Parts: sequence; C-alpha cells; structure tokens
Amino acid sequence: MTNVDQFVSSLLTELFIGGKAVPAAAGGRFDVLDPATRTVIASVADAGTEDAIDAVGAAQEAAASFAATAPRARAEILRAAFELMTEQRDDLATLISLENGKALADARAEVSYAAEFFRWYSEEAVRLDGALGIAPSGNNRIMVIRRPVGICVLVTPWNFPAAMATRKIGPALAAGCTMVLKPASDTPLTALAMARLLDAAGVPPGVVNVLPGRRSGQIVSAMLHDGRVRKLSFTGSTEVGRILLRECADNIVNTSMELGGNAPFVVFADADLDAALDGAMLAKMRNGGEACTAANRFYVEATVAEEFSRRLAERMAGLRVGPGTEESTEVGPLVNDEAVDKVEALVRDAVTAGASVLVGGTRPVREGCYYDPTVLTGVQPGSAILREEIFGPVAPIVTFTTEDEAVALANDTEYGLVGYVYTGDLARGLRVSERIESGMIGLNRGLVSDPAAPFGGAKQSGIGREGGHEGVLDYTEPLYVAVNW
Ligand code: NAP
Repeated sequence: MTNVDQFVSSLLTELFIGGKAVPAAAGGRFDVLDPATRTVIASVADAGTEDAIDAVGAAQEAAASFAATAPRARAEILRAAFELMTEQRDDLATLISLENGKALADARAEVSYAAEFFRWYSEEAVRLDGALGIAPSGNNRIMVIRRPVGICVLVTPWNFPAAMATRKIGPALAAGCTMVLKPASDTPLTALAMARLLDAAGVPPGVVNVLPGRRSGQIVSAMLHDGRVRKLSFTGSTEVGRILLRECADNIVNTSMELGGNAPFVVFADADLDAALDGAMLAKMRNGGEACTAANRFYVEATVAEEFSRRLAERMAGLRVGPGTEESTEVGPLVNDEAVDKVEALVRDAVTAGASVLVGGTRPVREGCYYDPTVLTGVQPGSAILREEIFGPVAPIVTFTTEDEAVALANDTEYGLVGYVYTGDLARGLRVSERIESGMIGLNRGLVSDPAAPFGGAKQSGIGREGGHEGVLDYTEPLYVAVNW
C-alpha cells in the first residue's frame, strides 16, 4: 500500500451529521473519480432528502447553545482550525489534487488560502459591532446589535473544494450560526476531511454537518423548504443560482450568491508588458483555468497585440501538463470529461468562425481529462468563447484601438464578477476600473482573491460578498431596539 492509498483509506466517506459519521438512510453510495486516470478514489455515502432533514435537525439542536457561546470561544475554535489546516496542508493538497485534478502547487495554494479564512474570521468573531444613536426626534435611543442569521445551507462547487467551503464556514462560525454543507459531487472528500478537522478544532457536534450527495436538487430543495433554515449561501453556476433563488423565494430564505464570471483582461499599449504577461498567466492559468475569476477574454490594444499574443503563446507552450499529483506538473487535467468536451467545442466554434490557433487547440494524446494550454487570436465578436465561461486553459485574444472600445467590450456580458486592467497610467487605470461593471478589479494585478477583501459579483455574477468584514455581516441579522432610558 502506498502512502496515498493509506491516506485515502483513512478518509471519512460517510455523511457527517450531529458530529458523527453516518451512512445514508437509503444506503446509497457513489464513486469519486481521479480525473487524471478516471479510476475510482473512494465510494461516498449518497445523501437523500431524509438525511437532509436529519442534518437540519442536528443543526437546529445545536443552534441555541452555539449562538450563545462567547465570541472569544468561537474565535479560539476558528484559530485552532486555521492551525490544524496549516499543519495538514500537504495531505489536504494531495486530496484536492486527487479528486479535482489540479496541480499540487495550485492545491497547496488553495489550502493556504482556505485556512486564511479561518484565521481572518477568528479575528472578526470578536469585532461584530452594533450601533447606538439618538433618534432624530430626541425621544429615544436607537440600538442595533447583530445576531446570528440562523441555520445556514452552504452549497459549494468542485473547483476550490476547500476554499469555497471555508469562505462560508468561517464567517458562519464567527457569527454563531449552525450549518449544513452540501459539497459538489465531484469533490466531496475534501469537505469530509474538513468536517473531521473542524471536529478536532473543537466545533461542537451538530454545528457543521456535511452532506455529500448526487441528488443535489432534491436535497437542497428539501432543506430550503424546511422552515428551520434561514439562509442559503451558494457558490456555483449562474444557471443553478437562478433555480435556487426561486426556491428561496418560497420561505423568504436569506441568500448569498457567488455565481459565474466572464472576466475581461484589458491590456493598454502603455502597460508594462512583462507584468501584463505575468498577470495574464496567473489570471488565466491559476487552477488550470477552472476559476470563476479566470481571465476569459483578452482585449489587447492593437499596437501591442502581436507581441503580447506571441509571448503569451510562448509561455503557454512551456507549461508542463500532467497528473496534478506529480510534483513537476504545472497544469493538471480538467475535472471531468464533460469539462474537456465543453472546452473543445468552444475552441472548435471559434476557429470555424475565423480565429487562429497560436498554440494548443487540441487534447493531448494521454489517458485522462486533459486539454492543451491554448491561445487563440482573431476571435470574432459574438463567438460563444467570448460569451460563456471557458473554465479551461484557453486564452482568446481580441484587439481594440480606443479606451471607450475597450470598456464597451469588457462590459459586453451579463456577468460582472471581476475584470483585469493593465496600464502604466494610473489615472486611466482607475477611470477604467470604475467604468467596468463588475464587483472586483485587478489593476496591474492578476489575482484579486484575499480573505481580507470583499469578494463578489455585480450583474448576474451574484448577490452579497464573501471575505472581509462584509463576509461575516452576511451571516447576521441586525436587531434594532428602540430604547427609552
Ligand atoms: P454548479 O453546477 O452550479 O454546482 C455548484 C453546486 O451546486 C454543487 O454542489 C452542485 O452539486 C450543486 N447543484 C447543482 N445543481 C443543483 C440544484 N438544482 N439544486 C441545488 N444544488 C445544485 O457549479 P460547478 O460546476 O460545481 O462550479 C462551477 C461554477 O461555479 C462556475 O460557474 C464558476 O464560475 C462558479 N464559481 C463561482 C465562484 C464565485 O465566487 N463567484 C467561485 C467558484 C466557482 P453537484 O455537484 O452534486 O451537482
């Protein structure tokens, strides 16, 4: 037995409800695959609606006592979770690489990023301010305090199986909420590993319940229609987000929505091209392109477009593609075959419409769910690859000639998660940042994610913010007391 086999055989593969590992009530299980080899890593309990209601019941039982814990006590638990996650970084990274496919370097970076949410919210737990003011009439005081919003359902995607969970669990714990986490079916093992880690950090039974399950629509709907659930925090596609917003309407469940993106990456001719290329590689290739923040469309000023495209193609061609768990790999496989099919179809469509392939454009000849790092130039306006999330290692490049044209192209999408702008003129950078319709901008920077900053989207990329001080407020309900004294 190899170390990896031993590690996998020690993983939690049941549901985690009320602080215990329990099988699914109906007994079902499903396989989790390694996308590098398409082999089965583990078989995991497959939750049904009965389990979902049990998990809400466990969260309900723990709710009052957890809401009443001292903020300092919750802060200490979060701090312990940060320490444990940091200690277990390499094991967790291997697990993420195994079930998601991403390169180990990306997986380690994800674990560090994920752990930082626990550290940040351990610091925020004791800083949940209220307000005290005098009513304009002078007759009374206006007192506002923040209480936990109540039982939360957290639904997370497969692309950052650790960080998308801690970005929700951290603030929910800080605010004093209990919760049920429903991880993506492609990557439930990381969520289950975190259930154990949080248990070891001192999270009381029933506070964090984890419910892997392939019947996601049914189990999430059952929880959203259980009158005890007060909040949904969802990270995933805009398409599923729309369905869940409708579901939440029935019981007026509070929602936070982190949805899809279609990030423009704008390079002006006055930009430092070396820095723009570094930023482009980071914004495009972090996580192999499988990120909501991934640069999806490159708009480059015509006078530098040829040089930028050529140098980007050289950098992309030099990347080492292989199994995520091999130390030398820079780009792992995509998460599954459907993801590769989608990327292939988008490239084919763009090329049929007239785009040129500078590098890549094919599936490598090797077993597994791979696609070659690809750069396309001359991409035609209206191509599907400019409208849809690529979620893979493909950079489509379009040229522009004026600032107004660049802004119009950047805004030509229903999404508004993040945009990237490279220019040597800071006044122009700030002006364009304010004109791009999105929740976040990387100005001369290819990475915006930071636990201390409010992450989230405008337009159809979402509602609410995660991270920063805003992140914890989304798990609280203000209580206003009109006081005479
Ligand atoms: P997805 O298909 O929307 O799935 C996300 C989660 O929702 C998974 O846990 C999935 O479970 C569950 N789900 C699917 N259908 C559901 C339904 N009808 N009812 C309730 N839950 C349902 O998204 P994905 O493919 O996992 O992730 C990629 C998407 O996430 C991209 O669009 C990306 O941009 C977005 N994303 C956004 C952010 C952000 O912060 N804005 C961050 C990361 C990713 P199953 O796996 O069991 O289907």
